[in-house]
Amino acid sequence: MSTIKNIAVFTSGGDAPGMNAAIRAVVRTGLYYDLKVLGINRGYDGMVKGDIFEMDAKSVANIIQRGGTILRTARCDEFRTVEGRQKAYDQLKRFNIDALVVIGGDGSFTGADRFISEHNIPIVGLPGTIDNDLAGTDFTIGYDTAINTVIDAVDKIRDTAESHNRIFIVEVMGRDSGLIALRSGIGSGAEAVLVPEIKTDLNMLMERLDRSRKNKASRIVIVAEGDEEAGGALEVAERVKEKFPNYDIRVSVLGHIQRGGSPSCMDRVLASRLGVAAVEGLLEGRMGEMVGLVNGIVTFTPFYKAIKHLGTINPNLLKIVDILSL
Ligand code: ADP
Repeated sequence: MSTIKNIAVFTSGGDAPGMNAAIRAVVRTGLYYDLKVLGINRGYDGMVKGDIFEMDAKSVANIIQRGGTILRTARCDEFRTVEGRQKAYDQLKRFNIDALVVIGGDGSFTGADRFISEHNIPIVGLPGTIDNDLAGTDFTIGYDTAINTVIDAVDKIRDTAESHNRIFIVEVMGRDSGLIALRSGIGSGAEAVLVPEIKTDLNMLMERLDRSRKNKASRIVIVAEGDEEAGGALEVAERVKEKFPNYDIRVSVLGHIQRGGSPSCMDRVLASRLGVAAVEGLLEGRMGEMVGLVNGIVTFTPFYKAIKHLGTINPNLLKIVDILSL
């Protein structure tokens, strides 16, 4: 029998579509197991300040389809200090909170690990980030929605590019990770994809663009914002223009639309499964772990391993872009 009676849930760091579905799953699972469930507003900031309230089944009604997070999210520098974490712990005691569910990314899990080592409070994490950059889950909550937003946008860009014989350089999110770029690149039929994990060979890019010129009126290059070599879409466009002054080249930076919108069915189901598993995990005595799906199976991974995302890109997927860009 678990001694946990009261749990709290919060969203932290970068927001992602599907966080609401995750909150709903955590709250309802807690209630299902006769726990008292509290919500913490604005992540660690709300924890430090005691912005905490009781939730019921109704407080998460009609949110599964909504983007953003009803608990809102924040970055909190105070929580990075020992004193800040002590304040947060004092607030949790004030509200009799025995255990936490954090929905966030690697920063939020790093903070959770520190908190556990100092205060020994059970915390289980749900991967909530559009970047898909955590180990221990095949997909993070928000990634599928984000790439679907990207391919919708690129499909529209393709229509206008095709009408004008243009090359479009499209910048997508991913400061350290090219996973949004790669998957949306394949899904939208991009002629090339540039990612931070792999040194960009601009000569190869030029060859690819030239090669596909015969067959296509439009060409699309997807660039992850963190591509170090190329340095983002504007820089790539300039380099291509230097080499091919006659090409009509345009840049589109998709920006924050990638974080918003109604979550896809895949993200809603993922969030629901992981939310249930997180609460059940806490009741089984788990702490300091992230719950994910690996090959379709619910899997717990220690925070310190989950945050060491592999930083690798599947070369077979890049080859698919190459083969299909003829
Ligand atoms: P994400 O979870 O999306 O990666 P951040 O990196 O912004 O987002 O982290 C979210 C919050 O987690 C930070 O604002 C901070 O409060 C907390 N945090 C991150 N790293 C640490 C750390 N090393 N020690 C303590 N808290 C941390």
